[in-house]
Amino acid sequence: MVITCKKDAPQEELNKIITKFENYGMQIKQIEGEDYTLIVVVGDTAIIDEKRLMCNPYVESISQIGTPYKKVSRIWHPEDSVVDVAGVKIGGKEKIVVMGGPCSVEGLEQICDISQEIKNAGGRILRGGAYKPRTSPYTFQGLGREGIMYMTQARKLTGLPIVSEIMSTDKIDEFVENVDLIQVGARNMQNFDLLKALGKTDKPILLKRGLSNTIEEWLMSAEYIMAGGNNNVILCERGIRTFETYTRNTLDLSVVQIVKKKTHLPIVIDPSHATGNWELVESMSLAAVAAGADGLMIEVHPQPECAWSDGQQSLKPKNFKDVVEKARAIAKVVGRDL
Ligand code: PEP
Ligand code: MN
Repeated sequence: MVITCKKDAPQEELNKIITKFENYGMQIKQIEGEDYTLIVVVGDTAIIDEKRLMCNPYVESISQIGTPYKKVSRIWHPEDSVVDVAGVKIGGKEKIVVMGGPCSVEGLEQICDISQEIKNAGGRILRGGAYKPRTSPYTFQGLGREGIMYMTQARKLTGLPIVSEIMSTDKIDEFVENVDLIQVGARNMQNFDLLKALGKTDKPILLKRGLSNTIEEWLMSAEYIMAGGNNNVILCERGIRTFETYTRNTLDLSVVQIVKKKTHLPIVIDPSHATGNWELVESMSLAAVAAGADGLMIEVHPQPECAWSDGQQSLKPKNFKDVVEKARAIAKVVGRDL
């Protein structure tokens, strides 16, 4: 961290700043410039409250050299993290993992049938929402615990691990007991109490990017989970809000390589919520694989026109199978397998 101080700052005022950092065990160097005095601080400056430091009338500006996240950063962990989801490994250089399933679990038969279809098509994890974060309180809110139990039945049938979304801390025990991969949805990316509580579990967490969040905010949310001791974090880009309304969101594909540079955590793409349009799901899935994503999460429904949520962006099983096959071909081109 470099603190730029005004040239007329009295040395005793600078010493107050310096002593504070020294008390934290950090190394300090004071440099006299033409127009400013610089205080260079070396150490773990993530704990410093920059806003408080800026209240000092002699401080002109502060620039961070490192990143505010530590455990998430590739600097401290150069090799790719591989997260094991009940035997399915996500991340690393080899396999790309496709997850598929309905937006919402609608019944036992429905989720079991779809689970078979996902498996037959080459999908390796079953998705299904039981607690749904809906924009309107009058639309289907999910089957709740019943839906989670149907997911576990589907897992028994096909052996596919299951992923489902959690919305509140009071459901953590239920999810830890029953679900293989706990999804934190876009709307809860900055639910810090939830992130902290999930950090105390050892379950893999699929952390979606918030609707309007920057990459740094997203990585800081991952840091919340890891700071609690849970290193099993997978990031999921699901499109962000822009001025464009033709698509539900704007898929930020450049994020794949940016994230890979900044962190060792795996990243998967959700082309369904990113586009809101099933006709765009295939091309965006293939583009995501070409861009280096470690996985895909795709909504699938046998009768999208009858789906209880997100039918417009759901693929029929046959189309899902086609996407998996084409994605496999693209994976080969980028030196991976699927
Ligand atoms: C979902 O996966 O069903 C979902 C609600 O996703 P998101 O949080 O990305 O909107
Ligand atoms: Mn959905």
